[in-house]
Amino acid sequence: MNIKNRSATFFAILILLLMAFILYWSTTKPISVIIQAGHEGRTIGNTGAESKLYKEEDWNILVADEVAKQLIVWNIDVKRIPAKVQFARAKIAVSIHFDGAETPCNSGASIGYPSDASYAFAQRWKKLYKNYFPFKWHNDNFTHSLKNYYAYKWIQAEKFLLLELGEITCDKQAKWLKPRLKKIAHLIAYSIAKELGKDVKKPKI
Ligand SMILES: [Zn+2]
Repeated sequence: MNIKNRSATFFAILILLLMAFILYWSTTKPISVIIQAGHEGRTIGNTGAESKLYKEEDWNILVADEVAKQLIVWNIDVKRIPAKVQFARAKIAVSIHFDGAETPCNSGASIGYPSDASYAFAQRWKKLYKNYFPFKWHNDNFTHSLKNYYAYKWIQAEKFLLLELGEITCDKQAKWLKPRLKKIAHLIAYSIAKELGKDVKKPKI
């Protein structure tokens, strides 16, 4: 190999390494907040709860979009993601859900999280939403799917909450929830902003 070829090979390798590094860096660059709409985009598998009138996925999308919108207004960098996840890092990740129950009105609101690192944030959210949501609450992580949510493994977040905001299959709860979805989203955004130490105004509820 002559000197010209050798330096060309050297630069080609250098460029490839640089590209690989940029790709790695862009996929792992941490962001402040990741907001997931549960079940969004799923056509098979766990497509979410539904009643005769409403689909959980639709409500999740509406709430997740509004949370992200409010966080942007408060200058917080946010990534809005669907059910399908890729490896990502964030300070806070929140997955939005509504529950469904075989026996209507057997469920209500609850919270899931992967470890004790999210416990205090979960309690702060519960305190806030308990003042507002007038129906049943379950213990934290009361089901296997709350405790072992698949996205916990993909999203490396300092704090990760899966929020079940109420039961969509309970007429009474659904009737209460539907006109308040945006307000609930503002309450979630407020809770996230406070957790990040931002001085934002509490939304009127
Ligand atoms: Zn769900």
